[in-house]
Amino acid sequence: MRKRETKNLKREPANSPAPRPALRTPCLIARALLDWFAVNARDLPWRRTRDPYAIWASEIMLQQTQVKTVIPYWERWMRELPTLQSLAEAKPDTIHKLWEGLGYYTRVRNLQKAAQQICANHGGVFPREFDAILALPGIGRYTAGAIASIAFNQPAPILDGNVIRVLCRLHGIAEDPQEKRTNARLWQLAGELASAAATLTQHALRKTTGEITRQSKPKINKGSDLPTALPCSALNQSLMELGALICTPRTPSCGVCPVAKHCVARRENRVDALPRPKQRAAVTERGFMVFLVEQRGRFLVQQRGANVVNAHLWEFPNLEANGKADVVELAQLEFGAKPTATQPLCTIKHAITRYRITAEAYRVEFGAQRIEGGKNRRWCRHDELARLAFTSAHRRIADKLRGQPCG
Ligand code: SF4
Repeated sequence: MRKRETKNLKREPANSPAPRPALRTPCLIARALLDWFAVNARDLPWRRTRDPYAIWASEIMLQQTQVKTVIPYWERWMRELPTLQSLAEAKPDTIHKLWEGLGYYTRVRNLQKAAQQICANHGGVFPREFDAILALPGIGRYTAGAIASIAFNQPAPILDGNVIRVLCRLHGIAEDPQEKRTNARLWQLAGELASAAATLTQHALRKTTGEITRQSKPKINKGSDLPTALPCSALNQSLMELGALICTPRTPSCGVCPVAKHCVARRENRVDALPRPKQRAAVTERGFMVFLVEQRGRFLVQQRGANVVNAHLWEFPNLEANGKADVVELAQLEFGAKPTATQPLCTIKHAITRYRITAEAYRVEFGAQRIEGGKNRRWCRHDELARLAFTSAHRRIADKLRGQPCG
């Protein structure tokens, strides 16, 4: 019989606690981020709720748009359409008007389509499973991860511009973040942090965040224990917050960064070089002539069709000028009648994706000639113009027009 090898084994006393394993780097980073977030998180209105509908709406609005711009839009949206059901049943004009000025209007149409699907297929209850969230219109991997983690505290990773910047610097990643393999690695690193947050013991979190909250008042709301109660939710928000407040594109505040001691870019003095800058598409200039035609105190406006940029929104009749600056010639082309007088109102410059657009707005008069409205067009008084959802550039023209008598 084989002799039992017990000679050199030391027995643990029966009542001694299990030895604590040293925390791995993702756990150390996750804990540092959660501690920092407990004190430094901004008090944003969508952080005061766990309603997945409200969090989803905020995430869609925040795409391509700054927090300070989104706050009044989100508050108005939640006042007017407080539930999934109210969004599912809202008129297209209502949702476009609530979104007016935020741009990228496909987002709002997809929001409504998704709300209608949730009502039809999920009994009106926002789905909790990542794959079911991802299957909804307008929801990609980032947004599904944000909703699953922020609303349901699941360890689903997120990767947006802020998180990419933080992770590239933290791990010294010099490759193009959009390149397939590098992008997959960034998702994996984000996933490791989300999983680490989920595994951190409540004891470890309470101990550290408790010490911090005793020293300074948390900003989310008084006595907030978000990082201890919902670590996956707080971890993803802390990554985004770090990118927004500390690890900023230019001149990051490395001196007060909670993960500075883990940061490869800082250690190797490569902060300014990371992440690798995006290759920008060449800018294209486009010019439009906008016609302000008034008859009997009403202005002619038209609604953009489906399947075009800014679909469903309203605008004044216009033509792409293509270098031609002759307003009379272009107006004749548009209305089939020669103007009797024209008067410049304003020039609006704006940018959409890679296009830099200049819109020249003119009042155009046709004397006794009658201009027909036609399909998708209508005549509106000033107060009606205020109620329609206009494209951003044409809203600025309508604002300029208000209060000015037609010459
Ligand atoms: S140390 Fe500086 S570069 Fe590194 S993560 Fe923090 S703020 Fe970003």
